[in-house]
Amino acid sequence: MEKKSEKITWAETFRIHLRAAGDLGKYCPGLFPSVIFHALFSALSPYLPLYLSARIINELAGLRRPEVLWHLVLVTLGGTALLALITGVLLRWKEAMTALFEDRKDRIYMDKFLSMDFADVDRVETHDLFSQIRQNEQWTGWGLERLLSCFSDFLRGMFGIFGAIALTVSLFTLPVPDAGGRFTVLNHPAFLLIFAAALVIATGLGPICRNKASEYWVRSAEESRFGNRIFGVFGFLAADQSRAMDFRMYDQHDIARYYMTTMNRAFGVKGTLAKMAAGPMGLWFALGSCLSAALIGMVYVFVCLKAWAGAFGVGSVTQYVGAVTTLSSSAALVLEAMGNLKNNTPFLQTCYEFLDIPNTMYQGSLTTEKRSDRQYQVEFRDVSFRYPGASDWSLRHVNIQFKVGSRLAVVGENGSGKTTFIKLLCRLYDPQEGQILLNGIDIRKYDYRDYMGIFSVVFQDFQLLSQSLGSNVAGSSEYDRERAVKALEDAGFGERLGSMPHGLDTCLYRQLEPDGVEVSGGEAQKIAIARALYKDAPFIILDEPTAALDPIAEAEIYEKFNEISGDRTAIYISHRLSSCKFCDEIVVFHNGQMIQQGTHEQLLGDACGKYHELWNAQAKYYARQS
Ligand code: ADP
Repeated sequence: MEKKSEKITWAETFRIHLRAAGDLGKYCPGLFPSVIFHALFSALSPYLPLYLSARIINELAGLRRPEVLWHLVLVTLGGTALLALITGVLLRWKEAMTALFEDRKDRIYMDKFLSMDFADVDRVETHDLFSQIRQNEQWTGWGLERLLSCFSDFLRGMFGIFGAIALTVSLFTLPVPDAGGRFTVLNHPAFLLIFAAALVIATGLGPICRNKASEYWVRSAEESRFGNRIFGVFGFLAADQSRAMDFRMYDQHDIARYYMTTMNRAFGVKGTLAKMAAGPMGLWFALGSCLSAALIGMVYVFVCLKAWAGAFGVGSVTQYVGAVTTLSSSAALVLEAMGNLKNNTPFLQTCYEFLDIPNTMYQGSLTTEKRSDRQYQVEFRDVSFRYPGASDWSLRHVNIQFKVGSRLAVVGENGSGKTTFIKLLCRLYDPQEGQILLNGIDIRKYDYRDYMGIFSVVFQDFQLLSQSLGSNVAGSSEYDRERAVKALEDAGFGERLGSMPHGLDTCLYRQLEPDGVEVSGGEAQKIAIARALYKDAPFIILDEPTAALDPIAEAEIYEKFNEISGDRTAIYISHRLSSCKFCDEIVVFHNGQMIQQGTHEQLLGDACGKYHELWNAQAKYYARQS
């Protein structure tokens, strides 16, 4: 981060912020208009009472005409109330849009995750980048969020400057009358020039000092982010329900404390940030505030001298002092917003490093012919694959053909390549060598979403959401209740459904609903299977979804599943051979290669084969079935 901030140019600062503004505008169309109107009114509204109260004081100190005073008081009250009302309404609008923006901002990242190649979703680097973005946001709102506050400050500052100039011009143009004696020197152009220059310098130096102080935040970004990460991982460990037992059993609080105090060098009383605040960062801030105070003093002296010498009434003193100090604070706001924009640039670069991850997978356009006869044929032709960044092949020269309606079992020891085979079939990754064909056409040529639509997969590490049981099954809040019940019954969840307090509307887990129902691992698996059945895709794949069950229960589920799969093509993955012996065809994977193919009987008959060896090794677990 430090290196990046050294090279930041203004051109890059504006380019990347304009791009981000365009993106935010697309996701949240009313956002920028709400910020602009609120900035305009909130910047200009102090000037009306400032101007009018000066008129009232001048009238009180001068002619004291009651009708003029009444008029001025009424206009001041009415105008101020109206402005306050409009500003209040605009503030509500802006706050509502900002809240919406918070939600939409996350959608930008979620859309990116959904649209990027799965290979990139699976990469550690992608998650690291996203975690950096999150840390930067949570730390002090750097990134997309900061753009909004900078934009708002910049506009408020600019509108404030215009308003202040309008109220200050007469301070310079109204001359001290001759009766002012030696004070007429204040009319001299050189004097005015010196005063204006001092004003500009003092106005500019304050924010420059404060921006210098802010740079220290950027310099410590790397360390603070790491500190935040430590906090994220270890800070709430004791409160994490899923870790509570381990935490007590293995005294993990010692490790947590070590990371929170010793490894975390950013925060804490002796941390980097505290040292910076007590040292240079604090000094720059103090200098900035000191210069601003000196500026106000200078303005008071100049304005009071001119009023003393008779250039304007005493009431105008409040107007000029108010206007000039607001001019200075508005200019400060503009300069600080600019400084913040520049400081924010490296953080936005990180956002775009993530959002610009390219999609390299070929995107085809063919439809997968929604065939009513579900006649699909799949072929792996000499397929080899290794995971991005891995040196070893996870699949090597795999050749297999299978037809719709068949039951295919993929068996093999852990790490033999079974899940990888399914991931390639579902086109989560493309193979480096060979081809996968659907009805004779390379699957890369099909429209990606369309192709995905023909598969229902129950992954090993499936996840259910904390929402109603029915929505979990259907993957949507609106669904066909009868079909959902049927899917749950087919998956063996029928009896449990009867005991759920609100049937399909029962919320799973307690993250959102205090009366949500906690389901066991086995029950969750049945719900995941029901979800796959509800999708009613021509291919249904079970990737060891029964890992939480014992071998006998697993075999029962597989056999029942065989019945309910109907005319779908079912693919079963298991390292337990007994579960799959009923399949039409069994393929055996070993070290990424498909080494055997045939029916259970054929494979068992090959006494030298891997299947025979695995079967015998596992026989003791499933004596009941063999
Ligand atoms: P199985 O499903 O048979 O247990 P996998 O298909 O999950 O086996 O794994 C096959 C090989 O690929 C293993 O050596 C595993 O370590 C490797 N592998 C699996 N997933 C990844 C990944 N995301 N990145 C790198 N290597 C992986």
